[in-house]
Amino acid sequence: MAGIYIHIPFCAKRCIYCGFFSTVRQDEAARYVKAVCRELEQRAGYLADAPVTTVYFGGGTPSRLTPQQLGQIISTIDSVIGLKNLQELTVECNPDDITPQFVTALHAIGVNRISMGVQTFNEEMLSFLHRRHTATQALDAVRICRESGITNISIDLMYGLPGQTLDMFRADLHTALSAQVQHISSYCLSYEENTPLKALLDQGRLITADDDLCSRMYTLMCDTLREGGFEHYEISNFCLPGFHSRHNSSYWDGTPYLGLGAGAHSYNGTSRQWNPSNLDAYMLGVEQNNPQFEVERLSATDLYNECLMLRLRTAQGLDLSSLTPSDRLAVLESAQSLISNGSLKLAHDRLSIPEQKLFVSDSIISSLFR
Ligand code: SF4
Repeated sequence: MAGIYIHIPFCAKRCIYCGFFSTVRQDEAARYVKAVCRELEQRAGYLADAPVTTVYFGGGTPSRLTPQQLGQIISTIDSVIGLKNLQELTVECNPDDITPQFVTALHAIGVNRISMGVQTFNEEMLSFLHRRHTATQALDAVRICRESGITNISIDLMYGLPGQTLDMFRADLHTALSAQVQHISSYCLSYEENTPLKALLDQGRLITADDDLCSRMYTLMCDTLREGGFEHYEISNFCLPGFHSRHNSSYWDGTPYLGLGAGAHSYNGTSRQWNPSNLDAYMLGVEQNNPQFEVERLSATDLYNECLMLRLRTAQGLDLSSLTPSDRLAVLESAQSLISNGSLKLAHDRLSIPEQKLFVSDSIISSLFR
């Protein structure tokens, strides 16, 4: 099994908090699509014939491309690598790009999952974050996706926003449930370097949510979404039964993936490599058959730590029987005190973090590292 991720770095305008690589140079889109197709041909052997089961267009804003451009990339993947085992084809969209014509065209080229960055349904917060859509547009976009044949819809929410109260986040969660989506991802706001939001923070012009409020929001989210019928399958991800993200789950279970496009990362089981987060460097390298990328070979220690870090993010946790006898022993030894104090649980030879401890999972997981 393998996945393919395609980074589409175009955005109509930049959100105040965003630390992802993206650009407003939309006029480069046609050239970029050609470069992605060419990179795919150059790297056709990367996945060593593993069957591709998931394809994910992320960004940036993939819905800034036309369905024809997205279809051109999908056709190239099909002809170069093959898509006969494909289970899930996701496109990230911004709500204001969604029209019935657009979604019908996506459905026609094989897209069976849409993931939408909604972030909040509070108009004041949306405006503060410099999002391009209103709450009404977001709800309309979900309805249009559903009516246009997409039966697997995910939305992203954020919590811990400056000035956001517990009641405001509760309202967002209830609106999300009423929208009848199948999947919800929800992340605590982080203050990324070199963003306008971080500049406001450094100037002392924000009232930030403290750890205690963020922790209470996290607990509220777990409880509300559980009551709404959602399974909590990863730290920040919730789904109706059967609707977990196959593509993102493959990151957590160590499945190889090929990342195409500027800034995209790839993993083949022994190394990670990443393309430059620079549109010109990326496109020129590919066009001149001299792709620019960096590689990190993973040592046995790196692989051990990554395995813990990724598996313990999930509700399924770490299957100890999948480890070598010496690694299994090492994990059990370092986990002993955390099992005793309730920070980890061990059942059926699987180690996992109880839901009430997931908010502080980083410190639990890192204390198990070699
Ligand atoms: S639309 Fe997404 S990628 Fe683009 S600036 Fe906003 S958060 Fe970042």
